[in-house]
This record gives sequence, structure tokens and C-alpha cells, in this order.
Amino acid sequence: MNKKIFAIKNMRCASCASIIQNSLRNINGVKQASVNFATEKAVIEYDENLIKDIDIITSIEKIGYILKEEAEQEQSSKFENIKNQFTFIIAVLVFVIMIWDIITRLIKELHMFMVPMDALNIILFILSSLVLILVGKPFMLGILRFIKNKNANMDTLIGISTLTAYLYSSAVLFFPHIINNLNLPKDTYFDVTIVIIGFVILGKDLETKLKNKTGEAIKKLIGLQAKKAIVLRNNEEIEIDLSEVIIGDIIIVKPGAKIPVDGKIIEGKTSIDESMITGESMPVDKTVNDLVSSGTINKYGGFKMEAIKIGKDTMLAQIIQMVEDAQNSKAPIQALTDKISAVFVPVVIVISFLSIILWSVFGSAVLGPSIGLSYAIMAFIGVLVIACPCALGLATPTAIIAGVGKGAEYGILVKDAEALQKLSEIDTIVLDKTGTLTKGKPEVTDIITISNFFNEEDILKFAGSAEKMSEHPLGEAIVKYALQKNITLIEPSDFKIIEGVGVWALVKNYNIDIHKPNKENNDDRLTALQRQGKTVVQLKINNEIAGLIALSDILKTEAKEVVQKLKQKGIKVIMITGDNELTANFIANQAGISEVYADVLPHEKAKKIKYLQETGRKVAMVGDGINDAPALAQSDAGIAMATGTDVAMESAGITLLHGNLIKLIQAIVLARVTIRTIKQNLFWAFIYNIVGIPLAAGLFYPFFGVILNPIFAGVAMIGSSLSVMFNSLWLKNKKLIG
Ligand code: ADP
Ligand code: MG
Repeated sequence: MNKKIFAIKNMRCASCASIIQNSLRNINGVKQASVNFATEKAVIEYDENLIKDIDIITSIEKIGYILKEEAEQEQSSKFENIKNQFTFIIAVLVFVIMIWDIITRLIKELHMFMVPMDALNIILFILSSLVLILVGKPFMLGILRFIKNKNANMDTLIGISTLTAYLYSSAVLFFPHIINNLNLPKDTYFDVTIVIIGFVILGKDLETKLKNKTGEAIKKLIGLQAKKAIVLRNNEEIEIDLSEVIIGDIIIVKPGAKIPVDGKIIEGKTSIDESMITGESMPVDKTVNDLVSSGTINKYGGFKMEAIKIGKDTMLAQIIQMVEDAQNSKAPIQALTDKISAVFVPVVIVISFLSIILWSVFGSAVLGPSIGLSYAIMAFIGVLVIACPCALGLATPTAIIAGVGKGAEYGILVKDAEALQKLSEIDTIVLDKTGTLTKGKPEVTDIITISNFFNEEDILKFAGSAEKMSEHPLGEAIVKYALQKNITLIEPSDFKIIEGVGVWALVKNYNIDIHKPNKENNDDRLTALQRQGKTVVQLKINNEIAGLIALSDILKTEAKEVVQKLKQKGIKVIMITGDNELTANFIANQAGISEVYADVLPHEKAKKIKYLQETGRKVAMVGDGINDAPALAQSDAGIAMATGTDVAMESAGITLLHGNLIKLIQAIVLARVTIRTIKQNLFWAFIYNIVGIPLAAGLFYPFFGVILNPIFAGVAMIGSSLSVMFNSLWLKNKKLIG
């Protein structure tokens, strides 16, 4: 199975996307295909043994679109640009003449300045023919597709309307006697053809520009990548292309330089600006053994690093991939618009035919055949033009692109559009204690001996040795403390982690257990420490309790403020932890959280979330993503706080690339604003149609004497797409305040 992203050209609206998508899915050998109108990309999964790239490309060409492999995508050609500009200039000129014509007809005093339309007709005929030849192809293909495959889309609507106007007007111009004999109106509509095509082309141009703007985030991320690296090979410093760096290379990073790949500092000391990835402006001090990631900038000291991850495995590459995937994904809310788009065009075609028939029959009867029939033609064209569903197609994807890109700027990684929508709907947040609310860097504060056989030093020696292999922050803290006290640790001969409880190890034939104190243990010294918010672990040597070690992990400075802000947003805040109740309550109290689930084993965290969901709550779980994975996956919106340089948290829909809890608020604001933007966009897309279609059909004529001139239908249609685009662009430029 092969998965590739192709660029698509010539798409004009959302229904183009669904036409291409369906055609792709019908190709033998194509397993999955998804087409995004806003990014102009198709993600295709196919079996190379059954079908070749080129076959896919040609079968899409047959229906009038161009599919290109990502890399060879080029800018639209110069000639195309000239054609478009020419069309647009003519359209503006004709538009001005039309307006002048309308004004001079309405105002008696200006009658003498009226445009000699009949004389102009021949020029307009030439111009509209030119426009159709130069840029009309996609619209004509739209009509052909409709006739051949019953596939109708925006091109079909524009095609039918502009071609009708053109053909009818040509008949009036060249065969006036036939029109006369049939008692048909002698008006021409060349201007309609020119102006509408011109505006559609202009609208498309603007749209592409705006789309590129909303999608700038990816370009920025790609721009972070260094191009060269200085490596040490055979004791010589040489500058090589990034692609030539291999794992294990020793790389020299100079002050002010971009870090080329992910790796570990092996010599030197510096301060690194990671803001482009984490969104946090404070530089981070790093020294030997610290990890650094590509795309971040070395500020002061020069250092040497060992390359650990290169190419598409680097954190930056993964972030880029994730943002791109997310921008191409579809929000559940879009399922609705897709459904509407699918039936919309056929319905509009039916309405347009109904209007022409009704106006011809009843309009002619009431207003006389000349006016009645000319209104019939106007209504037919107007309905087709105003109903173009391109704003509808842009509504959701452009907002998602803007929102996902915005998130990346702030160090908020979104897995897909669905995650963003779910996050916008939550009403409850469950926060993990260790590492989420607290700094996750516990320190040993007290050691209490219980057995007479072992002193403080023995306790540290056995505890430290047993925890040597542990990656739990508590274990690491104990090891660090023992080393600080100059205690030599012994390699355990056996070792086992008991998830959420503690560790067991065999040290010099002693059975060592370090774990949560038993529930029954209500030793005064133990509870006193716990009431101070300390986590206490119990050391057993050969099954006898030997002592207690207390560790304190302090609350993140912003925790209290963040909890308060969450509450202000109407969100219920709950803390969850594997730690005991007394310690948990102390920390929760400090943070201003009143609801606490304590003593919860890792696999039970997911159950607690499920229970909350069963009471009707929409729950977001925030955790470190490692032992909280099942809970993150169970929740409606899983939010992983990245620790160190781990990025792709599979189980989380949202990953915060920095431990600062303010990012959590920003993520919620982002989700809510993005979804609100989608809803506003949908409003803009629909309102023009809801008002415009009946207006264009002439439904208001009997009451107010107005019918929409098809030219203004064109203006309104472009207006609706542009309002949607500008609304999404506004989201892109919005500041997320925590
Ligand atoms: P949290 O929910 O705060 O992330 P865990 O589920 O990781 O906590 O651990 C719960 C409890 O289990 C800790 O408070 C501690 O008492 C005990 N524990 C877990 N791992 C260890 C370890 N490596 N050494 C000692 N105690 C541990
Ligand atoms: Mg934890």
C-alpha cells in the first residue's frame, strides 16, 4: 500500500472536491482518497501493484482536473495570469458601463447620456467570445460533465448561465427576425457573460491568495529547518548539506545558529531559544546530556552535539507532518455541509428551470410577453449564478487551516479537526496531579527510620539502588538525593515496575519494595507529612517496613490562576492522581480545586473519565501522555503535556509542547474560536443563498417590484466567498490570550 499527497489544480468549489474524491475512490486499486478543497490537496492510499501514479493522474485529467505530485507543483503560468488579468479588466469596464446604463435609464435628466447599447452589442459580442475562449474552458467542461456524468458543480452553474446569456444574445444580434417572429425579448446579455466570468476569476484569484495566507503556518515551520550542518568527520570540521547528516554524527553548533537535527549535547553549555516550537519566549538553559531539537536557535555558547534523529524523524519534521495532516482533516461539522453541497446544485438547477417556466407563463400573462420573457431569462441566469456553493465549501476547511496553524504558532499541536471540535465542546477538565499541576520534579525532604536495623543511610542506599532503573519522577528524585549524599548505589540483580504502585528490586539478595504506603498504615509521622502535601513512599526490606521517604513536588506557579480561569469559562475542574488522599487534597487545595479523585491506579483513571461521561459530561483529560494514555484516549478531548522532546502523543488529540498550563487555556480558546469561526462562515455562506435565490428567482417582484440583475447576483456570490475567507483570515491574525 502506498500513500501519497497530490496537489490538485482547477478546483473551483467544494463540489469539485467531492467529484474528484468519488472518482478517485472508484478507481480500481485506490483504497482510500480524501480531497481537501481549501488546501487543494488529495491524500490517496493505493496499491502500487494494481495501479500506477500516472493512471490515477490521467483518469482525473479526463474529468477536467490536474493532479500533480507534491514536489512538481508549480505556480500558475504567466500566460494564465495575463489571461486572467485581461478578463478582469474587460469585466470591470463592462461593469462600469452597465452601472452607467442603469443610472441613465432611471434618471430622466440623464437620458441623453444613455449608452447606445445597440452599437455596443457587436463589441460586447467580440469581448464575450474572447472571454469564453480564453478562460471559459472549465465552465464549459462543467456543462459537459453534467451532461455526461450528471455531475453538477459550481462550474456547471456558471457554465449554463453564462453560455445561455451568450447564445441568446448572439441569436438576438444575428437572427433578429427569428427572435421577432417568436415574440421573444430583443435584449442582449453579453455583459452578464463577461462580468460574471470576470468576477468568478477574480474571486478565485483572491481566494487562492487568502488561502495561501491562512496556510502560512506550515511554510513558517518548514522555514525553521536549517539547510547546512557543520560536522566533525576524521577530526575535521566540514560543512555539509542537512540531508547528508547521519545518526551519530558529531555536530558543531555555533552561537546564533539553527540546530540542524535532533540530538544530545556532548560538550559545552548554552541557552536555546525554543519559542518557534513551544511558543514560549523564555530561552532554556542546556548543558551536557540535555536534548536539543532541530529548528530551535542556539543563543550564546557554542557546543557539540551528537545527532540522534534526522530527516523525517526529527521533532520539527513530525510537527510539520502533524500540522499538515490536521489541516487536511475534516471536522465532523463538515459532514453536514458536504451533505448540503451534494444536493444543493441539483436543487438549484431545478429552481432555475422552474423560474424560467413560471416567468414565461405567468410573467408574460401579467406583464406582457416582452417583459415577462426577459425577466424569465434574468431569473434563470440569476438563480444559477447566486447559488454557486463555493462559500459553503470554503467555510469549514479555511477555518480549520487557520486554527490549526495558529495553534502550531503557540506550541499547541492539533491531531485533527475533530479533536479541535471536541475540545470546543467540553464542560469538564480532569487534570493529572504529577507533572501537570505540579512541576513534576519532586525532591526528597524527609527520611524516617522505622526499623532498628537500618539507619537513614541504609534506607537511602537500598531505596536509591532499587530505583536506579526507574523512570518515575519519584524514583529519579530518590536516586538524585542519594547521589548528592555521596552514597554509592548498587546495581540491582533484578527489577520490576508495578505501575502506579512502586518498584520491586533484588539488591544484594535483599528483597526491596518501594511503594505507596498501605491504606491501613496510619502512622502519625506518615499522615503528618502527607497533610503537608508531601508524597510519602514506604521502603520494605525483606518484607519488613524499614522507613519512609517523603518527597515534595511543588505546584506550578500558574496553576492557581489557570484553574480560576477555567472555572470562569464555566468549566468544572477535577484533579486526579495515584497519590494518597491527604497529599492530593493539600495540592488540590493550593490550586483551588475542590473535587479530587485520589488513590486512582493508572488503569482506573480511564474508568473515572468514563463514569463522568456517563453522567452526561464532556470531559477533557490533561496528562503527561505516558501512563495516562488510556485516560487520554477515553476522554472526549485528550490533552498531553509534552515533557522533554517527545511530540507525537498518539493517544492525545491535542499536544501542548510546553509545560506551561496557560497553554491549556489558549488551546480551549483556540478550539472555541475556530469552531465559532466555522459557524459564522456557514452563516455567511447560507445567508446569501437564502436571501439571494428567491430574490434572483423574482419571488419578491410581485410584492416589491424587484428582481435581481444577474450581474449583482455575481457580485453577491463573490461577496459571500470573500466574507468567509476574510473571517478565517481574521482568525489567523487573532492573538490567543491565556
Ligand atoms: P500520579 O497519578 O501522580 O502520576 P502514579 O500513578 O505514577 O502517580 O503513582 C502513584 C503512586 O505510586 C505514587 O504517589 C507513589 O506513592 C507510588 N509510586 C509509583 N511509582 C513509584 C516509584 N518508582 N517509587 C516509589 N513509589 C512509586
Ligand atoms: Mg503521572
